[in-house]
Amino acid sequence: MVITNDKTLLEVTGLTTSFFTGEGTVHAVNDVAFTVGRGEIFGLVGESGSGKTVTAHSIMRLVHQPGRITGGRIVFEGRDLLGLNEKQMEEVRGSRIGMVFQEPMTALNPVLRIGEQISETLEIHRASGGNGIRQRVMELLNKVGFDDPEKRLIQYPHQLSGGQRQRVLMAMAIACGPSLVIADEPTTALDVATQSQILGLLEGLVDTLDMSMIFITHDLNIVRSLGHSIGLMYAGRMLELSRVENFFKQPLHPYGRGLLGSIGGFSGSARRLTAIPGSVPRLSELPTGCTFHPRCPYIMDMCRVKEPVMKEVEKDQWVRCYLYQN
Ligand code: SF4
Repeated sequence: MVITNDKTLLEVTGLTTSFFTGEGTVHAVNDVAFTVGRGEIFGLVGESGSGKTVTAHSIMRLVHQPGRITGGRIVFEGRDLLGLNEKQMEEVRGSRIGMVFQEPMTALNPVLRIGEQISETLEIHRASGGNGIRQRVMELLNKVGFDDPEKRLIQYPHQLSGGQRQRVLMAMAIACGPSLVIADEPTTALDVATQSQILGLLEGLVDTLDMSMIFITHDLNIVRSLGHSIGLMYAGRMLELSRVENFFKQPLHPYGRGLLGSIGGFSGSARRLTAIPGSVPRLSELPTGCTFHPRCPYIMDMCRVKEPVMKEVEKDQWVRCYLYQN
């Protein structure tokens, strides 16, 4: 279940991550598969509770008790991350895969100056590049759009705006020259103008540093402008996987069609705004059969009974829905 790429950097197959709570087992990520090509941006889209962030944490092997990755493969740069020991995984985190979080204030240490925090990342991975750590930190601050890096070096996080703090996190994420950055809703807490600056910066970094990116968001418009391919998650499942241009031209899954309708339609459709009735089910109380069936306008008898599998309907367009399985 992959989108074909000449150069695949990351291939996730059958990823299943569950949380074993006193009230039962919650399958937060269930049999998820997708690929990310080198130099590409993969938009991972879904409402809250759809499993996007748990998918990202699974790739980084940062799922904590009572959660556990119970199945699948995460092949990155030719190695299955699920087979690495913790020391090898520490090397991958930060040095090969960087991460940018939604709320920079909680990801940054409030009592350490910006320069110290970025230096620490370089020191942990011994990645100063030979020019001295201070010089490298200044270069990084420059790369993420600070034209006054010397001043920023000695500031504390609370002395920066939300957008500036997000830039600092981006500098830390790219510090060691990773080939993949995972950005988890990095612009959600920012105002619209700052949001578009940060998105432009991320896109520029992917181009100039020859990286790939997984961009996690609930905002389809961001993926439309940034992404090369898109994965649509719902209740822990991947429902549709497609090249971005195909998805926005003709989304296949009723959930994707509904979401796109709610933001103003897709090409060729009536542009009437529609909202999807109902809400995302709780992961501990999933409906039988297709997880989307309580909200689906096309529901058939079998949809309530058995969950459909992912199927490639058009080239590089996979969908989990009985409408396409005859
Ligand atoms: Fe709707 Fe059935 Fe398709 Fe689920 S499988 S999205 S309920 S038509």
